[in-house]
Amino acid sequence: MSGGSTSTPATAAIRSHTDRREHLFSLAQATAGFMPDDEGEALFLAALRAGASFEQATFVEIGAWCGKSTVYIGAAAEATGAVLFSLDHHHGSEENQAGWEHHDASLLNPATGRIDTLPHWRSTVVGAQLESSVVGVVGDSPTVSAQWRTPLAFCFIDGGHGEAPAWADYRGWAPKVAEDGWLVIHDVFPDPGDGGRPPYDIWRAALDSGEFVEDGECGSLRVLRRL
Ligand code: SAH
Ligand code: MG
Repeated sequence: MSGGSTSTPATAAIRSHTDRREHLFSLAQATAGFMPDDEGEALFLAALRAGASFEQATFVEIGAWCGKSTVYIGAAAEATGAVLFSLDHHHGSEENQAGWEHHDASLLNPATGRIDTLPHWRSTVVGAQLESSVVGVVGDSPTVSAQWRTPLAFCFIDGGHGEAPAWADYRGWAPKVAEDGWLVIHDVFPDPGDGGRPPYDIWRAALDSGEFVEDGECGSLRVLRRL
């Protein structure tokens, strides 16, 4: 034993898990996107519980952008042997288009003239070495949900925040959440002065359906659990 510190294989394993988690958190924090650090950690913890509660758990996130939330959820997938399917058409939401609040012209793909976050998402996931736990699904959310058959231990909705896309995500994905599984919704603002209505409305709809109960919150992140 060196330097008077006790190191057993068990403490070494715990340390390497903690190091990996801290490493992934700092990568996520450095990734472009729309997820405050504390909400990202709450997202990770909810996904970790889902991964620990289900055998070979399947996770889906709707709305990946450059991979910030992907790394938080991917970290939980890796730690629990789950697989995260990270879905986005990568053309950005309405609010990311030219002339809107969250536009970033550096994300335009000159070949298509459209926003293209896929190369950024890919660099994030490869850089985080999460490719064995995270699978990218490139496409339109309702098209994918209409074909999706696998029950979800964990579903994160953070796609388009307009009326039509938010309701399409709720109607398309909430029914895929397994019994006892988790549904997490981002950008839920009870005060209309803080942000748009649709994410709040679908969160309310999930509770009013009687199929989901509240299971925690952090900032605008709402964690629900299916009964
Ligand atoms: N979770 C991300 C932010 C997501 S921003 C983070 O942590 O930073 C919302 C994303 O939803 C955008 O990348 C946009 O391309 C995607 N999106 C919007 N409508 C969509 C649709 N119909 N199908 C697939 N993705 C969609
Ligand atoms: Mg969001």
